[in-house]
Amino acid sequence: MTHSSTNAKTTSFRPIIGIDLGTTNTAAAYIYKQSPRMIQLKNGEHMMPSVVLLDPSDKVIVGDDARSALVAMPNRTKAAVKREMGEETLISLGEKSFTPEEISAFILKEIKRVADKQLGEGEKEAVITVPAYFTNQQRQATKKAGELAGFVVERIINEPTAAALAYGMQNLEENSHIIVYDLGGGTFDVSVVEMMDGILEVKASAGNNQLGGEDFDWLVVDWLSEKMIASTQIDPREDIRSKARLKEEAEKIKEKLSYEDTVNIAVPVVTVKNNSPIGLDATLNRDEFVKLIEPLLLETEEKLRQVLSDANLKATDIDEVLLVGGSTRIPQVHQLITSFFQKAPKKDVNPDEAVALGAAVQAGLKSGALSNSGLIVTDVAPFSMGIAVLDNMRSRAKPGAFHAIIPRNTTIPVTRTESFTTSEDNQTAVSIEIYQGENDWVKNNYFLNEFILEGLPAKRAGEEAVDVTFRYNLNGILEVTAKSASTGNEMSVTIEDAIDRSSEQAFQDSMTKVEAAYEVEDQDLAEELNLFDFTEDVPGESEEPLEELITDAKEWKKRFSKELHNCDGVSKEELEQVMMLIESALNSNDPALLNKAIERSIDLAIDLEI
Ligand code: AMP
Repeated sequence: MTHSSTNAKTTSFRPIIGIDLGTTNTAAAYIYKQSPRMIQLKNGEHMMPSVVLLDPSDKVIVGDDARSALVAMPNRTKAAVKREMGEETLISLGEKSFTPEEISAFILKEIKRVADKQLGEGEKEAVITVPAYFTNQQRQATKKAGELAGFVVERIINEPTAAALAYGMQNLEENSHIIVYDLGGGTFDVSVVEMMDGILEVKASAGNNQLGGEDFDWLVVDWLSEKMIASTQIDPREDIRSKARLKEEAEKIKEKLSYEDTVNIAVPVVTVKNNSPIGLDATLNRDEFVKLIEPLLLETEEKLRQVLSDANLKATDIDEVLLVGGSTRIPQVHQLITSFFQKAPKKDVNPDEAVALGAAVQAGLKSGALSNSGLIVTDVAPFSMGIAVLDNMRSRAKPGAFHAIIPRNTTIPVTRTESFTTSEDNQTAVSIEIYQGENDWVKNNYFLNEFILEGLPAKRAGEEAVDVTFRYNLNGILEVTAKSASTGNEMSVTIEDAIDRSSEQAFQDSMTKVEAAYEVEDQDLAEELNLFDFTEDVPGESEEPLEELITDAKEWKKRFSKELHNCDGVSKEELEQVMMLIESALNSNDPALLNKAIERSIDLAIDLEI
């Protein structure tokens, strides 16, 4: 036996990576020299579309190339699979079908492949983020997707908590109350976080796991379809390819409306009738768009009120508002925040990267890479969890009342036990029905699982006690145990079992299926895909100057990130500095900053002869 390996362990840490598995995009980060750093994905990008394509030769393709195929091959592509996580559904890609976990596993496998390349091959642990408002089922499905992709899933953490962690790392000295308003592609979350002497405590969370940019896109699709119906009596949503084309168009229109007041829409071919192309010409302005999405934005405002009230705070107690998620680029969101809190949201947080960076911070705290940071984080259960009981408040007891054992916003991990008694004479079994939600009646809450504890001694009603224990862990996964007080007999269930009653064999089968379909080839498939991509160019529509600047800046970023590997010392530092400048110019969308960043890029490229 030697001590050398022990020494090695104390100085090097397993690189656990943090992954933001988003509805629209996926990004990952790791800890490098005590701070979180994004993993460079294809072409040096920091995120990739969460889109999966099963190409005509049945090969799985993930990311940009899959996204390019969305319109051309709607039957072979899947976007926004996160919205179906935890559901028992099968998604068809071509002739094959996959569960939402398997599709997500393809996305995560792509991350793993890149991480293996950049951080070294071998077993990889991961912290994966989920919306705070994800249910147990959705969390379990995410964990399973990570495992199917070949990760050891260390922890599932809440997205707003991750964003707060990224912010906390940069502002360790600050004592403040912050709001994280996270509006992404598919989900909305809001959390109140207290930062005090390096301790980051989530006080309350609320949200809607089915509210996000995707819904805005569909509202625009409906608006466009109504226009078409009015002029042509054809509903383009009835054809899968036309629908996909309008959805793609709707997202572009929506994003343009974040920078422009009016967007002219000219789609030469939406659908075809009697062999003639049918197009669409329309104009949508920002006010009309805001009207479309207003009910959803008002819902987010309602949740802001709820978290503040749950945390016993007023809007004026909030020191900073962090905006996370791509949909927070909508100017109306800024206005909503500014008028609600009477202060503008914080500008220096990158809404696309904060969650992955924060997941990496959590990973670093776990692996030891950041153990000296002094940062500690605590989180809460975002919803109440409990069991069905008899409602004894009335003269005649009524079944189906909800009794919360872990009320929402309880700090986790938490274990709570409560005692219940039998309700009938000679009752020898009790059914434990587990629900989550906030309603007084279980039928309005979300059913999680049930089990029966048998073998109770036959006694008179109310004389036999059963202790029910709820354990909710840091991954947000619940375990419930029921124990007969007199016999000590007990039974427990993990909510995992509710969705995944499958055996280890079923998991292995899924893993084999994912591995067989995901066959990596390190070649750029974009050109090959163009063969199938017959989306039309809109004639006569010229690029906007701002978009040109954005495209140029992105090109420089790509070019420099490729060069990073060939440089060291001062050149590398200069490259990193200019890349940071480009990054912040891109985030600001300010033409002056973008111009400045491009000028610096040109100068540097000349200096370094690259
Ligand atoms: P995320 O899930 O955080 O990656 O956010 C993706 C969502 O943000 C998608 O629905 C995008 O369409 C949306 N998004 C990205 N940029 C903008 C923008 N400039 N304006 C409005 N929505 C945007």
